[in-house]
Amino acid sequence: MIKMSKPNKITKKIKDCLKDVPEYVAGKSIEEVKQKYGLERVVKLASNENPYGASEKAIRAFKEFKDLHIYPKTDFVELREKIAEYVKIEAGRIVLGAGMDGVLENIFKMFLNAGDDVIIPIPSFPYYHTLTRMYCAKDVQVRRREDFTIDVDAVLDKTNEKTKIIIVCSPNNPTGNIEKKEDAKRLVEETDALVFIDEAYVEFSNNNLMDLADYENVVVARTFSKAFALANLRIGYAVMHEDLKKEYMKVSTPFPLSTPAVNAVIAALDDLEYVKRCVRLVVEERERLMKELNRFFKVYPSQANFLFVKSQVESKVVAEELMKRGVIVRDCSNFIGCDEYSLRISVGKREDNDFLLDVLEDLRLEII
Ligand code: PMP
Repeated sequence: MIKMSKPNKITKKIKDCLKDVPEYVAGKSIEEVKQKYGLERVVKLASNENPYGASEKAIRAFKEFKDLHIYPKTDFVELREKIAEYVKIEAGRIVLGAGMDGVLENIFKMFLNAGDDVIIPIPSFPYYHTLTRMYCAKDVQVRRREDFTIDVDAVLDKTNEKTKIIIVCSPNNPTGNIEKKEDAKRLVEETDALVFIDEAYVEFSNNNLMDLADYENVVVARTFSKAFALANLRIGYAVMHEDLKKEYMKVSTPFPLSTPAVNAVIAALDDLEYVKRCVRLVVEERERLMKELNRFFKVYPSQANFLFVKSQVESKVVAEELMKRGVIVRDCSNFIGCDEYSLRISVGKREDNDFLLDVLEDLRLEII
């Protein structure tokens, strides 16, 4: 293994702004936790995955593809048409990416020069900060209101000629709240910057901001990683103005998606009943878990597949103690804009949520 503690001749040449970019540290896997603590049962409620797994039809379509030696297409028309049907927008305004992470990266690549501003209402999804810094731009942080909705006036106050992108995450990760359409609309209308609307969790919520994609300064992005249970396929998409789409195609890597993954997504879009069933179960469990968790934490209302909670003891201690007993949750104390009592708990299957509640009951005697 190469050690890189001191800058050497070559690392000195790496661009300066990368110094401010933290390395992404993924949470521990079930296997790692089982091994580390010698546990038989470990439940992961940390990555907002769909606990019911992918549609059988999607899995079958993935497995059927054999021509692995051939490059994929660059313009997956069939998939874009299927998405168009699903979101009720013309296929010509839809772009694809390697997960929503890939879509985000392309958009940042298109817009940011060194020294530009990206406004991020905090707390929110950490990758926005990472990407902004990676492009040598500044992440301008604007605190959310008490209920975690965006303070539109405060955002507009921070907007100036350097502002290229304003982030609206709805439902927001990690807080789970959504934005009112009239607030998002006012923000879009009162700025010249691009408003990037991240709807990764929209299927779990009772509202969406897709109508705003008609504005030329708006991109609405979504993913198949959450409700569609296809996180490992890495496919996301976005709706945007046709002029923007042309530029997007320039920055996209030549072959960002693989054909078996695309085939699986097409099959999943043909099996929407399955997605709806998963969403119904998650939402039911979310409401039950929310009430139950009130016994241990301050729990915030959520329109996503996770709950944001505040603990009385430091969240890193709570997360560590839960992990030792077989439940992995997300300590959010290192999210920009969260305090040291913040946790995000994904909604699992009923039996997994019950396991969490039992462990919390045991723990309460000791620390909570
Ligand atoms: N946006 C938000 C708010 C997210 O929470 C995530 C996943 N954690 C993403 C985007 C990226 O999703 P993916 O790349 O899996 O599509």
